[in-house]
Amino acid sequence: MSYTSRLTQAIINLDALVKNYQYLDNLASNSNTIAVLKADAYGHDASKVAHALSSEVKVFAVAFIDEALALRDAGIKNTVLILEGPFNESDFEIALENNFALMLHSNYQLEWLKSITPEFSGELWLKVDTGMNRLGFQVEQIDNVMSQLSAQQINNLVLCSHFATADQIDCARPAKQLAKLKALVAKHGCKYSMANSAGILNWPESHGHYNRLGLALYGASPIGDSPKSQPLIPAMTLQANIIAIHTVNVGESVGYGNNWQAERETKLATVAIGYADGYPRNAKSGTPVFINGAQAPLVGRVSMDMITVDITDLKHTAIGDTVELWGKNLSIDIVAQNSDTINYELLTRVSKRVPRVFTG
Ligand SMILES: *Cc1c(COP(=O)(O)O)cnc(C)c1O
Repeated sequence: MSYTSRLTQAIINLDALVKNYQYLDNLASNSNTIAVLKADAYGHDASKVAHALSSEVKVFAVAFIDEALALRDAGIKNTVLILEGPFNESDFEIALENNFALMLHSNYQLEWLKSITPEFSGELWLKVDTGMNRLGFQVEQIDNVMSQLSAQQINNLVLCSHFATADQIDCARPAKQLAKLKALVAKHGCKYSMANSAGILNWPESHGHYNRLGLALYGASPIGDSPKSQPLIPAMTLQANIIAIHTVNVGESVGYGNNWQAERETKLATVAIGYADGYPRNAKSGTPVFINGAQAPLVGRVSMDMITVDITDLKHTAIGDTVELWGKNLSIDIVAQNSDTINYELLTRVSKRVPRVFTG
């Protein structure tokens, strides 16, 4: 979109990304901190984010090879780790040509690897399932898997696992998962990677040769409000503008359905953002938005292109005023809590229709 009549936009603060990266990288000073850019950098525009970070960061990670090729098309030269590894045999050739590191998690991928001649000489990671039960070889399989790799392939191998509950500081599972991975690492003498954002923040003992930083890079917290998440700066501010203002009487509803009724004479602002833009349709009446320095509650249902907000208690609010849905003045966590979801989903679901505007 080059011409924008509607002012709805996601403002991406690239300087915040750099600062967040530096903060989290410093928390794990002996680790190489990988920046995870899957899902278009959690909705922030992977190409722009990669360029902003390319001098700070050695390795980027994405979910599958298509996302890595898009980074190459954008001129990004860094190593890219493919977190879900090859989806078919030709992915190995693409990985070799493009300096992509491949995560192997299943036997069918190992079979593809072994069938390649000459032997695959790119970087390999092995995903170990230490208890999340989603992806990876079982701990007991690793000896056998490694016996099928060449000496050269083992030389650079990284053993990798993923936490299921690293956000829960009082949970016993992270320590158990980590112990399983560390036992393998001790046995085989490989490099390893365990920590995601919550691991970097909550579990210093899990910091490995590589850590995989996703959410917190974008200034959202995987561990709620805690002293360690305080320095994070939200990189995305989602905003839209008031396009209509009107007053309704006691007992009237607004928008589709009747799920909200005015209990007083209410001044309503209609704001040009809806679920087609990624504002969650689940957001309940009462979810705050931020207008002219104050909060005001969402009322009624979220429509495809619009929401309605009770501005009765706000002074000086006019058509054209900017409304922040989340970002530097309003925590995305509050919107997530009011919508029965998590900050990860809100960020990744800001739709293509919303122009990203870059600052910093
Ligand atoms: C997405 C992902 C990460 C990043 O997780 P955050 O919680 O966003 O930091 C790390 N590792 C793997 C395997 C992932 O899929």
